[in-house]
Amino acid sequence: MMRMRSGLMLVLLMQTFLGWTGTAAATTPSPPSAPLRLVGSTKSCSGRVEIFLNGAWGTVCDDLWDLNDTQVVCRQLGCGLALEADDDFGPITTPPPPNPPVRLVGSTNSCSGRVEIFHNGTWGTVCDDNWDLNDAQVVCGQLGCGRAVEAKQGRHFGPGTGPILLDDLQCSGNEPSLKDCVHLGIGSHNCVHSEDAGVIC
Ligand code: CA
Ligand code: CA
Repeated sequence: MMRMRSGLMLVLLMQTFLGWTGTAAATTPSPPSAPLRLVGSTKSCSGRVEIFLNGAWGTVCDDLWDLNDTQVVCRQLGCGLALEADDDFGPITTPPPPNPPVRLVGSTNSCSGRVEIFHNGTWGTVCDDNWDLNDAQVVCGQLGCGRAVEAKQGRHFGPGTGPILLDDLQCSGNEPSLKDCVHLGIGSHNCVHSEDAGVIC
């Protein structure tokens, strides 16, 4: 009697299990594949793999990326057999925005001169109050001119004519641009153009 009961329970359990999986299979279709695209190539069937998830296109890391992974992408895009798995289709991360433009004016070479920065469509100057080698270093770094040799005060490279955009700069020397240093605020100053700052890198 016990064995019959056990056998019956097993059949009932199997029916329940089969019924459940059957229902699940009937009501839950397999999820559609996330959209894919290939970017950064002139051909439609090659490029950097990007996948659309959560409302945005994102990239796929190339760790362990091989021909089998590539094959899935090619099949999903209707591109036939994968020929090559490559990690050379451009950078994975978006590059940071460029620093605000800076230039050196009034000298014979591009790595020394009066400091001018570009703001709101105009080139303007920097006041020499508190202007020192740390401030000059930020400019030299921004321009790829190496180390700052001298921080020049008193319109050493002649006076500018545009707005005076920065005053009382207190850079540590490691900032990516002059605007990232401590200062009075862009356009706030108590200077005249005879105080325009300059650098020699
Ligand atoms: Ca000042
Ligand atoms: Ca300073």
